[in-house]
Amino acid sequence: MEMDENVRPMSGNVDAETVRKSMKDYYAKAYPADLLYKWLAYGHDGKHLRGDKSFPNRREFCFTLEGEIFARYQNFASAQEFREALKNKLPTKIDIGPVFNRKPSERHGVDLKPVERELVFDIDMTDYDNVRTCCSEANICGKCWPLMTAAIKVLDVGLREDFGFKHLLWVYSGRRGVHCWVSDERARNLTDEARSAVAEYFAVVKGKDANGAPRLAMAVPLHPSLKRAYDSVLKKHWIERYLPDQKILEIKDKYDTVLAMIPDPEIRETLKGEFETTSSNSVARWQRFEALVAKELQKSKNRNYKLEGILEKIVFAHIYPRIDIEVSRHMNHLLKAPFCVHPKTGRVCVPMDPKTCDSFDPEKVPTVVELIGSNPRRTLAEYNALFIDGFCKKLDEENDARLSSRTREVKAANQQTMDF
Ligand SMILES: [Zn+2]
Repeated sequence: MEMDENVRPMSGNVDAETVRKSMKDYYAKAYPADLLYKWLAYGHDGKHLRGDKSFPNRREFCFTLEGEIFARYQNFASAQEFREALKNKLPTKIDIGPVFNRKPSERHGVDLKPVERELVFDIDMTDYDNVRTCCSEANICGKCWPLMTAAIKVLDVGLREDFGFKHLLWVYSGRRGVHCWVSDERARNLTDEARSAVAEYFAVVKGKDANGAPRLAMAVPLHPSLKRAYDSVLKKHWIERYLPDQKILEIKDKYDTVLAMIPDPEIRETLKGEFETTSSNSVARWQRFEALVAKELQKSKNRNYKLEGILEKIVFAHIYPRIDIEVSRHMNHLLKAPFCVHPKTGRVCVPMDPKTCDSFDPEKVPTVVELIGSNPRRTLAEYNALFIDGFCKKLDEENDARLSSRTREVKAANQQTMDF
C-alpha cells in the first residue's frame, strides 16, 4: 500500500527511557521555571507593596514521579524553591492545581479549600476518533491535526467575544491535544457552577442517540455564537480541509452516519444511490447535497423546519470543538503545566499562538533531547518569547494596575484618617 505523506505517524518522537535520562539536564538548563512561577503569582511575587506574599505559596503543584507516583499538594515559596524541587525530584510530569485558602502542604487537620484557579480547557484528539479516518487513539497526523486548529479558532473567539476574557494561554499538550488557560482575574474567581456553565456553553456534540447518530445541543436558526463559528471557521474548514483530508463521504460507514442525519427520505435515497454507484469525491458529494437541500427548501411553500439547518448540523456534528468538560468544571482539577515534556513523545508542551495556529506543526515542536547537552541543537527561545510577549506582558500590566490601585486606595484611606 502506498503511504500518503500526510498520514504517516508523527516522526521524531523520543522513547520514554531517553526522555527519562534527559530530564535532569532539561530542568537544570531549559525549563523556564521562573517564567512559570511569575505567571502563577499574578503580581504577588514580593515586588508590590500591596501584593499578598502568601498567594503563590498557596498554589498546588503535583509532581508525577517515577513509577507513576503522584506527589500532590506541594507548594513553593519562591521560583528558586520551585526550580530546586524540579532539579531534585525530576518529575516526569508537573500538574498545576488551584490556589487554596492555605498552604496545601499544611492541609492536615484543617479545612483546605480552593479559592481560585484559571478556567481551563482540554481538547484531546481521541474525542474525535469517530470522525477521523486517518488515525485513532494517541496517533495524530497532518490530516487530523487541523481539527485541533479549528477548535482553537472557535474557542478562542468565543471566550473573548462572548465572555470578554482577554488572557488566554494556548498550549500544545505534547502529544495529541491542546490546553487553554484562561487567566483573567474574573475567570480565576469563577465558582464551579459558573465553570460548568461556560463549558456547557461550548458543548454542542453530546454523545450519540439510540441509533448511533450524534446528539447535538443546537437549534435552528443558529445561536449567534454558533453562527459565528460556522461562518468564520467551520464552513471553510469543512470544504477546504476536512472533506478532502478525511474523505468521509467516500467511506461507507462514515457516510452512512451522515445519511442517517438527513430528515428528508427522498434526498437521503438519492444521495445513497449516487454514493454507491459513482466515484465522485467528498467535496463534490457535499456540493451535490447542498444543491438538493437548496432546491427542496425553495420548492416547499411552508418553512421546511426539518431540513433547515441540516448542512450546519452535519458540520457541527463532525468538526465543532469537542472539549473534555470534566476538566473545566472544577476549580480543583489538575492540568499539566506548560513546558512539561510529554513522557511518551519527548515533546515539550509549548505555547501556541491562536493567530498562527494554522501553521503549527506538532512534528516541529522541540523534543527534550534537542534542548539539552553542552551544545543544544535547539532552544525554547521562540516559545518563551511567545509566552512572555503574547501572554504574560498584558497580564503583568493588569496585575500592576490592580495592585497599584489598591496602594492608592490604602493611601487615600490613611490620608483621610490623618485629616480627621
Ligand atoms: Zn490523522
